Amino acid sequence: MSRILVTNALPYANGPLHLGHMVGYIQADIWVRFQRMCGNDVVYVCADDAHGTPIMLAAEKAGVSPETFIAGIREGHEADFKAFGVAFDHYHSTHSAENKALSDDIYTRLDKAGLIEPRTIEQAYDPVKAMFLPERYIKGECPKCGTADQYGDNCENCGATYSPTELKNPKSVVSGATPVLKESEHYFFKLSDLQTEVQAWLGSAVVPSSVKAKLGEWLNAGLKDWDISRDAPYFGFEIPGKPGKFFYVWLDAPIGYFASLKAYCETDDGKARGLDFERYVKDPDYAQLWHFIGKDIINFHGLFWPAMLKGAGYRQPTGLSVNGYLTVNGAKMSKSRGTFIKARTYLDAGLNPEYLRYYFATLLTPEPTDVDLDLVAFKEIIDSHIVGKYVNIASRCVGFIHSLAGGMLPSKFEGSDEVGAYVREHVEPLIAMMESGIIGPSPVAPKEEDADRSAQAALGGAALIKYLLSSAINIKGWYRDRNYAVCIREFVILSDKVNTYIHENAPWKFAKDSATQQQAVEVATVALNCFRLLTLFIKPIMPTLALRAEQLLGLEREPLSWNDLGKLMLSTPLNTYESLAARVDKDQVQSMTDASKEDLAPSQTPAPATKAAATEPKTKPAVTAAPASAEASPTINIDDFTKIDLRIARIENAESVEGADKLLKLTLDVGPLGKRQVFAGIKSAYPPEKLVGRLTVMVANLAPRKMRFGMSEGMVLAASNDEAGPFLLMPDDGAAPGMRVK
Ligand SMILES: [Zn+2]
Repeated sequence: MSRILVTNALPYANGPLHLGHMVGYIQADIWVRFQRMCGNDVVYVCADDAHGTPIMLAAEKAGVSPETFIAGIREGHEADFKAFGVAFDHYHSTHSAENKALSDDIYTRLDKAGLIEPRTIEQAYDPVKAMFLPERYIKGECPKCGTADQYGDNCENCGATYSPTELKNPKSVVSGATPVLKESEHYFFKLSDLQTEVQAWLGSAVVPSSVKAKLGEWLNAGLKDWDISRDAPYFGFEIPGKPGKFFYVWLDAPIGYFASLKAYCETDDGKARGLDFERYVKDPDYAQLWHFIGKDIINFHGLFWPAMLKGAGYRQPTGLSVNGYLTVNGAKMSKSRGTFIKARTYLDAGLNPEYLRYYFATLLTPEPTDVDLDLVAFKEIIDSHIVGKYVNIASRCVGFIHSLAGGMLPSKFEGSDEVGAYVREHVEPLIAMMESGIIGPSPVAPKEEDADRSAQAALGGAALIKYLLSSAINIKGWYRDRNYAVCIREFVILSDKVNTYIHENAPWKFAKDSATQQQAVEVATVALNCFRLLTLFIKPIMPTLALRAEQLLGLEREPLSWNDLGKLMLSTPLNTYESLAARVDKDQVQSMTDASKEDLAPSQTPAPATKAAATEPKTKPAVTAAPASAEASPTINIDDFTKIDLRIARIENAESVEGADKLLKLTLDVGPLGKRQVFAGIKSAYPPEKLVGRLTVMVANLAPRKMRFGMSEGMVLAASNDEAGPFLLMPDDGAAPGMRVK
């Protein structure tokens, strides 16, 4: 059993959460749930980040005190997290007594260690508002290209960076006055003195390799001392013994992690768990400390925070998990396109929050890759993976146990003893080796050719369960390493295998005859034991769906855990099957984007949205969209249809392709259009020699596609669904190569 403290980046208390925020929270919550299912003791805390100039000014604009303003925001944040299943043990605020006490303590210790130094600096000052102005609160003309209305730190037109004093015709965003330069005494944290210590921490911490490289670059360039004070008026904590001077928001924000833990320790729940706050924050051997953050704040968490902790005699983080940015439909979230989607808008549209968790998980890896919410792929993936594959297993099999076995899952089936032995002799020892670091999960992610594993002939019942169990070893390791995308690819392949097993053993045929009914029960029993394992695999991502599946399987008293992999469902009474999951409703997706457009109506303040300067998403990750088959596609007109040049083709030659398990290389005779080479994924259904000479239908004007094995110049048409296929189309007698199909 390991003790782990997990934190999520603190959302800034100046506005509601949007779907971009949810990426990191969902990523962390999945990990927390996984760790708990492994029997580890996890404390999971977060808080609102409530200080700073943006909040002070937003409250003023709203005509309320900052305290009232942040209380309202916090309520909204907590409700959204709850709805998305992000289940913190405790949610706090950086504007709290605990955070004040801890910030004072850490500052005082740094000061005593000689790491705080006063320096006089010159800063832009708004003489009308009587306040110093952060860079983002000054606008003017770019000193390089002359574009008007640019912020004091960089130009959105030419990309130049500069200091606010270089702007031409600068104006205060707050009052419109021309800022003046004014001297002030600020307090600096001497980061440069801790260069070696931060370097040492980075060497041992678990940090995504790309982030580690970036932090290393900054370290090599040399750490600069950090200005940690701000002048009144400021919404924050006054620095002890320095009237009129406040901690900069980024000084007390990460301390808010510990403040939330401290407050949790004082709750009944925290007391019942016997949490020892001091050991959590001082003793790295007592517990792991993991921070889940976005890639825009790695400097604070990977340089400043470990330095502060070291300098003040606190423990340092064990690891950082870093997430990328969210794009929607391949582009930056946009209010005008209706893709700047608030968490609440998603919920209000009636969409299932666990579907977003699953979709994000298909794209989450240990590296901070950007995530694209493609709203078409979103529906396709959920409809295919969850409804078409996973839930389908239970919906097809539970009925046989009710009608043929009195609703009681049999305790034995052919090979059940063999499965038990396999777990003891093979699975458990390998998991133990993985946990002690002797081996890792398979570094080879399931990919292209592995997809054929699902198309292979069905395994026998016991062999199928053993197959899932051997995958469990890898899935456990991938979850541990936060490689959810790979966990899901494996989950889908395994679900396919179970469906193939059901299809090939057709329990509905056996069920008709009393002489063979026992075989139907046998098949359903194997499939439902597999369904139990698949539920275990998906539970950290979709906890509510998994809970309903557990109830169906009669497991609510014994929730699934990673520590009883080999436990088969012995003599379990099943509940009646009720629909576990519905397809994504297209109208709800549409109403979500419509509602997001309406958000434009009220006045928008272009004030900085977060306290860290967020840069924009850059790349769109590839989304593997699984085909949806159950719903009709949108209507098209005849012009759309006639764009597709469908022709009769004769298969002149068909051959296997070395290195591709599912492809056949076809040579097609298309009459007047000549010969075409086409690669078709039909090898699982057709031996090549059976195809030579037959007629089929091809798309003749599909753009040629370069594949690993050569050019594919078109496509042959075949029918399939989740259970069967592909079935190649064949025209009636009389059709000849080159004829148009219309
Ligand atoms: Zn410019």
